[in-house]
Amino acid sequence: MPDCLFCKIAAGEIPSKKVYSDEKVYAFHDIAPKAPTHVLIIPRKHIGKLADAREGDAAGIGEVVTRAAAIARELGLEHYRLVANNGEGAGQSVFHLHFHLLGGRPLAWPPG
Ligand code: 5GP
Ligand code: ZN
Repeated sequence: MPDCLFCKIAAGEIPSKKVYSDEKVYAFHDIAPKAPTHVLIIPRKHIGKLADAREGDAAGIGEVVTRAAAIARELGLEHYRLVANNGEGAGQSVFHLHFHLLGGRPLAWPPG
């Protein structure tokens, strides 16, 4: 396994507040929430960032995004933002692909 924080979280080696888990997808509450709801949804497969995704990753990433929508529905969110920061200049700090699900407050556009 890569020496990766989110791989370890998905494997249960580092504790997290689980929201959803199956053999391909893991979702958990962000440790430093930026909104009343702030869930991170990740593929169990290590992909460093969205730019590293290849054709063979399309189904897996599709499952992550579809699961994010299901989680939003289950949490009662109608208005929310799903975002992946790609690269340090865009705010990425953990290099395992993840989507932020943010909701529960007004979300300004464009983001900073
Ligand atoms: P990024 O900045 O890469 O887009 O997002 C990384 C996110 O991971 C941040 O929102 C940060 O708060 C969260 N995070 C960093 N370390 C941990 C951790 O150990 N546990 C959890 N649950 N979230 C983390
Ligand atoms: Zn990883």
